[in-house]
Amino acid sequence: MTQSRSSISLAALFDTVAATPLDVLKRVYGYDAFRGKQQAVVEHITGGGDAVVLFPTGAGKSLCFQIPALCRQGVGIVISPLIALMRDQVEAQKQLGVRAAGLNSSLSREEFFAVRDAIRAGELDLLYVTPERIVTDGFAELVADAKVALFAIDEAHCVSQWGHDFRPEYRALGMLGERYPGVPRIALTATADPHTRDDIIERLGLGDAQVFTTSFDRPNISYDIAERDQPRQQLLRFLSKHEGESGIVYCLSRAKVEDTAEWLNTQGVRALPYHAGFDRAVRDANQDAFLKEENLCLVATVAFGMGIDKPDVRYVAHLDLPGSVEAYYQETGRAGRDGLPSEVWMAYGMADVVQRRRMIDEGNAAEDVKRIERGKLAALLAICETAGCRRKAILAHFGEAHAGGCGNCDTCRNPVETWDGTEAAIKALAAVYRTGERFGAGHVIDVLTGVENEKTQRFGHTEMPVFGAGKDIAPRIWQSIFRQLLAMGLVSVDHSAFGALKLEEEARAVFRREREVLFRKDRPQSGRKPKAGNSPAARERSNLSGSDRELFELLRAERLAIAKDLDVPPYVVFPDTTLIALARERPSDLEELLDIPGIGVSKRDRFGEAFLAVIEEFAG
Ligand code: ADP
Ligand code: ZN
Repeated sequence: MTQSRSSISLAALFDTVAATPLDVLKRVYGYDAFRGKQQAVVEHITGGGDAVVLFPTGAGKSLCFQIPALCRQGVGIVISPLIALMRDQVEAQKQLGVRAAGLNSSLSREEFFAVRDAIRAGELDLLYVTPERIVTDGFAELVADAKVALFAIDEAHCVSQWGHDFRPEYRALGMLGERYPGVPRIALTATADPHTRDDIIERLGLGDAQVFTTSFDRPNISYDIAERDQPRQQLLRFLSKHEGESGIVYCLSRAKVEDTAEWLNTQGVRALPYHAGFDRAVRDANQDAFLKEENLCLVATVAFGMGIDKPDVRYVAHLDLPGSVEAYYQETGRAGRDGLPSEVWMAYGMADVVQRRRMIDEGNAAEDVKRIERGKLAALLAICETAGCRRKAILAHFGEAHAGGCGNCDTCRNPVETWDGTEAAIKALAAVYRTGERFGAGHVIDVLTGVENEKTQRFGHTEMPVFGAGKDIAPRIWQSIFRQLLAMGLVSVDHSAFGALKLEEEARAVFRREREVLFRKDRPQSGRKPKAGNSPAARERSNLSGSDRELFELLRAERLAIAKDLDVPPYVVFPDTTLIALARERPSDLEELLDIPGIGVSKRDRFGEAFLAVIEEFAG
C-alpha cells in the first residue's frame, strides 16, 4: 500500500478545535447539507445521547457516527463484523484526512503497537474493531487510559436471531453500556422489521436510546419479478442492459453459483463466483476484484454482501426465491447506494416454493420458529404474485404506507390484467382433492390437461371426471394458477408428502362459491433482446451532454489510475456522483473544487491537481 500521501491531521483542517457538525460535513466530507434525519442523529450523539438508527441502505448511516466521532473528544470506536472490509473502510477515512485505524488479527506486532500508541496519545479519530475483540480484557486495557468518543455498532441486526445474519459475538456487546458508562452508543442497521428492532434494543441494552427511523423506500431502485421460463436466457437479457457495470447475481446453491459464473464467462459476461465453500483466499480475492473493478458480475450465495459498501452496484438479480421479504430487501438493497438509478430482477417458479418449504421443514429449528418461517415464505410469495405495485406491496410488509403507482416497478410499467378465475380455481382445487392431496403441481396439471402418461394411468387418474377438465387452459397458465393459489393461501405445499399440494381451510369457501378468485394474467416473456447499455444508470450518465460525457470518461480513467496506485477501490477516491458534477461544472481552481459534492479539503489537496489537469487539458 502506498503511503506517499500522508494522513493530514484533522485539527489542521479547522481554525478552532471545536468544529460544529456542519463544518465537518462540509470541510471533511465535502457535502453542503445533511440528508433527512442525519442532522438530528448527529446532534443527539454529539450531545452524548444513545441512538438506534434504522435507515435503508444508501441513506447515509456512516456519517451519523463518523461526524460525532470527529466533533467529540477522543476516539470513536466502530464495531464492524467483517475484517475483509475493514481495510477499505479505514482507507476511505484516511483519504478524507480522518485519522483512522483498524484493529484485527491481521496486524503485525509493530502495527498493533502503533495503533495502541495513537489511541493513548489521543491521536486517533476512528478505530474499527471486530465484535469478538471488543469484549476482551486486552481491549479494555487498550482503551483504559484513553478517551472514547462513542461506540458505533454497525450492522446491528447481527445481534438478532430473527434476522438472516445472526452473529453470536454481537450478543456480548450488551456489556458496553455497563463497562463504559457515559460513552454514547449508536446502533445502526438497514433491517426494518419490528422484531429485529426490538431485539437490537433489548440485546444491546438500548432501552433508553432514541430511535430514529425514516422511510424505507429506495426510489432509485427499479423492481422486476418474473416467472422463470428459460432462466439463463432471461438472465442474459437482463445483464445485456448492464454491460460495463457491476452487479450481483444471487443463487441458492454453491453448485449453481459455480455453474452460472462459468456459463456467463462463455457468454462474454465477466463473472466471478463467491460462496462460503471456497478458501478464504479465493473469497477475499473475488470480493476484492468486485470492489476494485468497474464491470464485474459477482455470482454468489447469500454468504456475500453484508457490509459491502460499494456505492455503484448497478443491478442485483435473483435466480432463486430468497428466504423472506426481509432477505430480499436486504439483498436487493445493495444496489444503488449512491442514489443513481439501479435495477433489481428476480426469476422464480413453483419449484422454488417447494424447495424453500423443504428447507424450512427439514431444518432443525423449533416448531414455532418453523411456523414463522413458513409465514415469511407466504408473505414473499404474495409479493411475487401481486397484480399491484411491487413497491407498495414490499413497503406494506414493513408497515409503511405507499400510495402505489410508483412507476418504477414491472407491474406499474406494464399493468397486469386480472381475470375472474373462480371456475378455474374450483377445477384446480378439485383436482388436488380428487387425487388425494398426494401430488405436486406438475402431476395435478397433467391430470387437469388430460395427459395420458405412465403416472396418470398407474394411479387410475385417467378415469376420473377431473381428467382433462382443464384442457382449455394451457399448462403454463395452470402453473401460474397454482402459484397464485399458494400465494392466496388456498393450497399449501406439504413437504412431509414430497411437496404434495394440500387444500387449506379457505378452499371450502371457493368450492361453495362464497369466495371469488381473481387471477393475474401473466405476461408472455418478451423474446426481444434489449439494446445493450441502455440501463437507467447509463441513461443518467448519458444525460450528460456529448462533451461532458467524454470528460466524464477521462475523469473516470484518472480515478482508476489513482485507485490502482493507492490499491483502493475507485469509489474510495470519488463516487460517480462527484465525477458527474466535475464533468458538468468543470471547476478551474482548487477553491472551486470545494463546491463539488464529495470534495472536502483533504481530498482536494490529495487529488485536486490531478483532476483539474484532466479538465484543463480537455478544455484547452
Ligand atoms: P448507508 O451506510 O446508510 O448505506 P452510506 O453511509 O454508505 O449509506 O452513504 C451512502 C452514500 O451517500 C455515500 O456515498 C455517502 O457519501 C453519501 N452521503 C451520505 N450523506 C450525504 C449527504 N448529507 N449529502 C450527500 N451525500 C451523502
Ligand atoms: Zn410500482
